[in-house]
Amino acid sequence: MYTLGIDIGSTTSKCVLLQDGTDIMAEALVQAGTGTDGPQKAMEKLFNKAKVDRQEIACITATGYGRNRYEGADEQVSELTCHALGNHFLFPEVRMVIDIGGQDAKVLSLSEKGRLASFQMNDKCAAGTGRFLDVMARVLQLDIAQLEEEYKKADSPVNISSTCTVFAESEVISQLSSGAPICNIVAGICNSVAARVSALAKREGIRKPVCMSGGVAKNGGVRDALGKVLGTEILYSPHAQYAGALGAAIYGWEKENRNK
Ligand code: ADP
Repeated sequence: MYTLGIDIGSTTSKCVLLQDGTDIMAEALVQAGTGTDGPQKAMEKLFNKAKVDRQEIACITATGYGRNRYEGADEQVSELTCHALGNHFLFPEVRMVIDIGGQDAKVLSLSEKGRLASFQMNDKCAAGTGRFLDVMARVLQLDIAQLEEEYKKADSPVNISSTCTVFAESEVISQLSSGAPICNIVAGICNSVAARVSALAKREGIRKPVCMSGGVAKNGGVRDALGKVLGTEILYSPHAQYAGALGAAIYGWEKENRNK
């Protein structure tokens, strides 16, 4: 049986096709989120990749910020539930999930069975989210995917003291004009995101093992910086950006099996 999850975020749309609740058959991502044709395009991309039709899918579940605006789904489920399900699938032993997306950061505590126990969320401020990194990468004229390699080259990270994205951007510009190497500025930026998000995690109460999901998890610099502040290894899967969509597909599979 096929189930499909679609995670409609603020900046990207992600789809996962799951077979029998256990096998990831295909994934598709489009760099456009809620309020755009991104969800539709991500869905078409997935169908083309997997060579399946809508009629073959038992349940399509939408999650993410834009889930309620999307009409092509059978179910709508909160992203917190889906991130818990998706990350538990990827790492059954994980007890804390740090999810950083394009516009928010969430810290989820999971029960032993992988269900959501409690959470903390920052959706009020760009600092500590993908948006912060996107703004800084633009100032440094780097692609977002280049931040990790720059971070690795750093030998003396600069200190970014402002928590506000606008002020931090001015600090980065002034570091650039005073000649600080790009790699040390990037390390300062990754450390700043880690400091912000670790405060959220500490408020929640650290539970190990910890994993990261969301698009920012792809940035090994942020993962390394976060691991250092929290004093623990951060587990990471190449499916990290798809964890919400994966959880939505699992939700659909569980629902179909309850209905039998
Ligand atoms: P949302 O679900 O809120 O739309 P995502 O979880 O898809 O967001 O994450 C989007 C963020 O991921 C972007 O804002 C960007 O900062 C980050 N990101 C995307 N691709 C990469 C990459 N290759 N390397 C590092 N960061 C990335």
